[in-house]
Amino acid sequence: MEYCSKCANKNIFSYIDGNKRFHCEKCKTIHYQNPKPTATLICMKGHQMLLGRRALSPAKGKWGLIGGFMELNETIQQAAERELYEETNLKGRVHEFVGICSHFNTVFGDVLLIGMTMEIEDWSLLKAGDDVSEVQFFNISTLPELAFESHKKLVNIFRQKTSNS
Ligand SMILES: [Zn+2]
Repeated sequence: MEYCSKCANKNIFSYIDGNKRFHCEKCKTIHYQNPKPTATLICMKGHQMLLGRRALSPAKGKWGLIGGFMELNETIQQAAERELYEETNLKGRVHEFVGICSHFNTVFGDVLLIGMTMEIEDWSLLKAGDDVSEVQFFNISTLPELAFESHKKLVNIFRQKTSNS
């Protein structure tokens, strides 16, 4: 984003076409940036919700939902299954989309969290993996403080949906 990919001039970050964007003053090319879609997983075992203790910054040491960024050449479902396996050693499938939530200005830029419930094949395989130091079940009514406001919002959407059904 620092230099124009078209003419190699240094980019500036200021208003152009109604929004603040990186763009080149010389050739007028706008260098668009987009939010990163993130698979954010709600894994329930009865009334117990699976959380991971974050091993890395941001919010290192805090409890959060399992999940991570989508990569190229994968669907959101594949991203969900991959992140589930990487972080918890569990195999599972997306069961239902719960809701979405935007998180702006994170250290990774803007993030679009896509919340979904997962169906787990075999809970006995559970083991903390990449990016989490610990995995643990918590009763949905007594969750610890969550790492991000966006995770709280998704959990609240999930709570409302399940209490209405
Ligand atoms: Zn340029």
